[in-house]
Amino acid sequence: MNQKYRTLFPIAFSILTTATVLSCSQSKGTEKTAESEAKTEATAKAVPVSSESAPATAPDPADIPASRIADAATILSRKQVPILCYHQVREWRPKDSENARSYIMPVQVFKDQIKMLADSGYHSISPDQLYAYLTTGAALPPKPVMLTFDDGDLEQYELAAPLLEKHGFKGVFFIMTASIGRRGYQHYMDKQQIKDLADRGHTIGCHTWDHHNVKKYQGEDWKTQIEEPTKKLETITGKPIRHFAYPFGLWNHEATVELKKRGYLSAFQLAEKKRDEENPLLSVRRIIASGYWSPRTLHNNMQNSFK
Ligand SMILES: [Zn+2]
Repeated sequence: MNQKYRTLFPIAFSILTTATVLSCSQSKGTEKTAESEAKTEATAKAVPVSSESAPATAPDPADIPASRIADAATILSRKQVPILCYHQVREWRPKDSENARSYIMPVQVFKDQIKMLADSGYHSISPDQLYAYLTTGAALPPKPVMLTFDDGDLEQYELAAPLLEKHGFKGVFFIMTASIGRRGYQHYMDKQQIKDLADRGHTIGCHTWDHHNVKKYQGEDWKTQIEEPTKKLETITGKPIRHFAYPFGLWNHEATVELKKRGYLSAFQLAEKKRDEENPLLSVRRIIASGYWSPRTLHNNMQNSFK
């Protein structure tokens, strides 16, 4: 796993590094001004915001009639919601490469990033809320953000989820089912912990069986990597599994079609600008929140990447 990350992530990291450089000119003190200046331009593309307190839940996607679902062009034209992708939340170890440190969050860095979001008035949203917004234009809470966690690392359960809850946030946890309950260099959540997260109102999503790149699937791979893990997670949580994260963020049009065929409502890539023109909901963008980022850098990158 770690080796795969080291090999495949440089592509994503070069995109992230560019984003960081682009955003460095914007200091926190000027954020308000920059925001106001951007307002006129963004008026036509603003996220509809609920005037009341933040809605805690979205309508069940199954209850949204097909006639109310917007076409792909409309979905692509809506303002993107910032979506952050986290992996391990732990102190860096001597063996961790420089690249690995870009996606491993030292605990204090993570705490500072989440606190910044809370202090800045952000509200976490679920993938079902994002789906309702993108398909029907449903209102979102003010300053929406989605906080996603990939792979099912144990510290996401032990450390990240309680911290999110302390700030009134909910997370989205994309589980790689081959690793459930595994103990080793990296520990992973067990079934009970996954169910507990779902019971506490967090969203559980699928992240394949063993992290294989969806662009390479053939033969039985769709069954092994998608269908069986989906069933397993539904059995564990007692809830439908409707949202997916691509391993390494890698995807293609065929994968969007295959996931849609299997009932998936949304699928999340990484920082690639391109989204699928036919199935935009199956190629939603996220950025990896880097362990090197200060809260200010994170905030700047959120504003610059999701327009
Ligand atoms: Zn992953």
